[in-house]
Amino acid sequence: MMLALILTYVLQIPFNGAEVAKDWANLKGDHFVIYHQAANSAFSRETLRRAEQYYDKIAKELGYSRRDNFWLWENRCAIYLFESKEAFSKVTQQAVWSSGFAIPDKRAIISYEGATDFLESILSHELAHLIFRDFVGLGNQTIPLWMDEGVAMSQEESRRPFFDHLVKQMISQNKWVAIPDLTQIQSLQGITVNEAAVFYAESQSLARYLLAADHPERFIQMCRDLRDGKSIDQSLSKNYPKKFPSVSDLEQNWVENSG
Ligand SMILES: [Zn+2]
Repeated sequence: MMLALILTYVLQIPFNGAEVAKDWANLKGDHFVIYHQAANSAFSRETLRRAEQYYDKIAKELGYSRRDNFWLWENRCAIYLFESKEAFSKVTQQAVWSSGFAIPDKRAIISYEGATDFLESILSHELAHLIFRDFVGLGNQTIPLWMDEGVAMSQEESRRPFFDHLVKQMISQNKWVAIPDLTQIQSLQGITVNEAAVFYAESQSLARYLLAADHPERFIQMCRDLRDGKSIDQSLSKNYPKKFPSVSDLEQNWVENSG
């Protein structure tokens, strides 16, 4: 499960939605088009209903204002649902445990009928990645991975108790990862499942802590400042001047409030 989470967010995958789904039916909402291979699919209807619901919740929690009209009409996000796991795996070449993934530059999410954990956690996680990317810029390498994953994880409520418990343990044993070290992590390739759990636990805790510390617009602006080349200390002191003027202030405050 943990491993599945790491690899669901795939940047580069050969997938031609228009070609794959040319004979599929579709369902349109305000911000999503669901292309489904199975006829009369209740799973597709539920996917559309939840996607619109998650969209509202995530956009609001990231400081969306009514002026930002995004993902409407031809800019809708596309969700492709294969009729079976076999059909999904054959075309997308995903690992056997994969239940779905996103392609950010195509604003697309791909899964299959009845996929495990898709409606409950994968859909909201991947949507948060896509919306966050829209807010701060696509394919940006200067925003630490922990912020990107932390925002996505902040939208997954089902596993939060597990990760929060792990954070408490890490703090009580003085074993959390110092934020400067966490910020150095650019890829999770080759790390162990335990290391991944620590990374995700701390990332979601820190991201939620920052989002709750002030108006979420502060968090998004901090990410934009990082995108534009400011250091993490500069971005923090500009957007959280009183609360966290430096990374060490943030770390100290977070440890005191999360242990
Ligand atoms: Zn992710």
